[in-house]
Amino acid sequence: MTTEAKRGQFFAAPPMAEPVLPWRPEYGSIDDPPHSREIGADVYVFTAPDYALSVNSVYAITPEGVIVLDTQLLPRHAEKLLQDIRKRTDKPIRFVSNSHHHPDHILGNELFRNEGAELVSSYFTARLIDSHTFWYLQFLNGVWGGHLPAGYVVPRSTFTRSRTLWLGKEPVQLFEFADSTTISGETVDITVAWLPRQKVLHVADLLMSRMHTFFADGTSVPDWLAQLENLRKLVQDLKPRVIVPGHGLPGDAGLIDAQERYLKAVRRLVMEHCDGGASPLTDEAKDRLRQDIINELPDCGNHLALDISLQLIQLLGPLAFLVGRPGKPRGARIPTLI
Ligand SMILES: [Zn+2]
Repeated sequence: MTTEAKRGQFFAAPPMAEPVLPWRPEYGSIDDPPHSREIGADVYVFTAPDYALSVNSVYAITPEGVIVLDTQLLPRHAEKLLQDIRKRTDKPIRFVSNSHHHPDHILGNELFRNEGAELVSSYFTARLIDSHTFWYLQFLNGVWGGHLPAGYVVPRSTFTRSRTLWLGKEPVQLFEFADSTTISGETVDITVAWLPRQKVLHVADLLMSRMHTFFADGTSVPDWLAQLENLRKLVQDLKPRVIVPGHGLPGDAGLIDAQERYLKAVRRLVMEHCDGGASPLTDEAKDRLRQDIINELPDCGNHLALDISLQLIQLLGPLAFLVGRPGKPRGARIPTLI
């Protein structure tokens, strides 16, 4: 856009005035189809295409209605999620729960509110959606532009620490795995969902499966690794049949090992390319780091996630990424689970 064309118009302040990333064909396209799979016991995982970050929504069909966990990034995928549910049941969608405040998990809320669902999240998550989404939309506008929704909807049904949702006699237990007082990894807020009858555990973005990981929100690798230890204990206690990550394929406890290997490899490479964290990530170092990460982790897909992460590490500096919370790491107290 020329200066002439900008005169008299609103325009975003740098770095949002131009696309925040160069486009790469490997990201796929807006028309790529999402994927939907049953994981048993009438629970389904709906996964967006790479282009929309392979984000998962989970839904469980019960005799008393449907519960949905997370509502996608783009309205078109929220609509496809709703169609996917409607192909299988005409029961009412009773609840929608947001696992954390990041836009790829909440921007489809409006569609489900209009379907009559009760929108539920932790109080902390609701406050973060309210305070952050406007700014996220500014940033994301430099990637997805007109595909994004014009607004956002904040859950009004909130809890602190834990809450059990009942669909008739079927419980779904929500609990804060990270809150405003604890260490944070990929995000500062995490609500984990446990479906005890179906033995399904949704762990939000504590885990991402067979894809590159997001480093948003000033992600701290040491704190994320401490969270993974807490998750290991939880999984030993609950013995879930399936673990559903925030993005990518569902799996078992092996997902925790894979996430740990990923974080340790990327931490080492960032250290190498930023002189132990002392130097900012230059454009040249970022390109080399990108290639080294891809070479070292060839099984990971979704380069768009990697490029967003590298952009944020460059913007925020490597130190927050490499350094954990001072003092003893602390996770949230987990409530008694069924
Ligand atoms: Zn996410």
